[in-house]
Amino acid sequence: MEQKVSIVSRAEWGAAAPKKKESLKGSAQRAIIHHTALPSCEGLKKCKDHVASIQRGHMTDRGFDDIGYNFLVAANGTVFEGRGWGVVGAHTKGNNHDSVGIAFMGNFNNDTPSKEAILSVKQLLQSGVSKGFLHNKFSLFGHRDLGSTECPGNKLYAALPQLKST
Ligand SMILES: [Zn+2]
Repeated sequence: MEQKVSIVSRAEWGAAAPKKKESLKGSAQRAIIHHTALPSCEGLKKCKDHVASIQRGHMTDRGFDDIGYNFLVAANGTVFEGRGWGVVGAHTKGNNHDSVGIAFMGNFNNDTPSKEAILSVKQLLQSGVSKGFLHNKFSLFGHRDLGSTECPGNKLYAALPQLKST
C-alpha cells in the first residue's frame, strides 16, 4: 500500500541555494533519525521561517553547504524538504554517504513525538522506498546509535520502532 506524503518544497519555504550538492551513489541503505533540539513550531508560516532559520544556522554558523538534514517534520506532520532525496547530507558525521537524515522539529528529551509526525515520517520512508531512493531493506537508526550524542532525545528514540511497523 503506497502512502501519499506531501512535502513543502525548498522553493515554498524560501531556501537559499546550496553552496555545493553531492549526489548519493545508489539508494540510501540507512535512515537516520534526529531531533532539532530546538523549540517546536506551530503553523505553516512559522514552521517555514523556522526551517529557513535552521538553514541559515547550518550554512553560516556551522559552515555547511546547505541545511544539514534531508527532510524535517513538524509536530502537525508537515514534512519539509531539506536537501531532499538522493543528496548527501550533513547530519551524522562519518555516516552521510549512504544514508538519509530526517529531523523531527522539537526537543524530544522530555517531549513525546506526535502521532502525526510519526505517521508522516513513516509515509516518507515508504515513499522513499517506492521511488528507489531508499533501499527496500534499509536500516533505521537514531543519531545516538552512530555517534556520541543524546540526539534524537529519549522519547523519540523510544518511538523509533513505530516508524518501521506496518
Ligand atoms: Zn542528530
